[in-house]
Amino acid sequence: MNSFDYVRPATISDAVAAASEPGSAYLAAGTNLLDLMKGGITRPSRLVDVTHLPGLDGIETLPDGGLRIGALVRNADLAHDPDFARRFPAIAEALLSGASAQLRNAATVGGNLLQRTRCEYFYDVASACNKRDPGTGCDALGGENRLHAVLGWSESCIATHPSDFSVPLVALDAVVEIEGRTGRREVSLESFHLLPGDAPDQESVLAPGELIVAVRLPGEAARFAAHARYLKVRERTSYAFAVVSAAAALRIEDGTIMEARLALGGVALKPWRAREAEAVLAGARPEDASFRRAAEAALAGAEPSGDNAFKIELARRIVTRALTLAAAGTPERVPALPASPFASLKGALLHA
Ligand code: SF4
Repeated sequence: MNSFDYVRPATISDAVAAASEPGSAYLAAGTNLLDLMKGGITRPSRLVDVTHLPGLDGIETLPDGGLRIGALVRNADLAHDPDFARRFPAIAEALLSGASAQLRNAATVGGNLLQRTRCEYFYDVASACNKRDPGTGCDALGGENRLHAVLGWSESCIATHPSDFSVPLVALDAVVEIEGRTGRREVSLESFHLLPGDAPDQESVLAPGELIVAVRLPGEAARFAAHARYLKVRERTSYAFAVVSAAAALRIEDGTIMEARLALGGVALKPWRAREAEAVLAGARPEDASFRRAAEAALAGAEPSGDNAFKIELARRIVTRALTLAAAGTPERVPALPASPFASLKGALLHA
């Protein structure tokens, strides 16, 4: 590992100033960053430790009934917050399906959004990787790529984004609050992560030194609480990233879907909002035929980027099943196997 400076600022503005220096990186839990540094994948010359910054570890109810979640709130603390889990059950389910208990105890809300792809060529410094070393090429193209992207990819990069948490957040119109040298701004999470295009090293809209300070959920996101699920297919039951996942949330009245929210994970370099599928579902009956039409719409633009055509059909089926589970009703408790496709439809208890 390269030697680096370590600073621990006392205020957000000091942190932003310190991290605006070239070569700097923010350190929170470090659950991804420290592995990247040990592997020589990233070599910051300065770590700016934000773990002691004041005011970033709270969960606050907003006047519209929404929630403001500080960037340093731990994933496990958020998932186990009873009020949060009751109002945003699909997000709690996504959080509990991610990583391991130990990692969830450490990992932060802000860090979760900024975790890097798990493309194995990105982690292998002997491989060509445009994301790690721009202009060197992409060894995943033509390589081992069965888990790579089927939506939004480019010839420069076919990686996927690994976050579970981000998927229902995007479906529910979450907003990211960002502090920079010129003050505070906010962007929708849907537009926060960038598709690879010609510059896969540019992963988000963050400018140098900008810090995520909070994630906000609008009050209207809680209106989906009675019919909201996150479903994730992974290669083992826990401690694995999604091959494909889906967050589905429905607002059902008198046997009709009044409004639908749908996003996919594991299919692109960002959490993928499926707005065409949402339009298909609006006004439809909550039944299998509607869900299949929505799944077709969600994957209409999908193309294999290698040996991963199977992911397109898998994603259709995961979307259909996530919508079926959501329509059946949010369970009173998160299942013992959160987000598992093996969860039974039977026994789902309705909130409303
Ligand atoms: Fe790098 Fe992206 Fe290619 Fe993976 S898919 S090797 S992250 S450029």
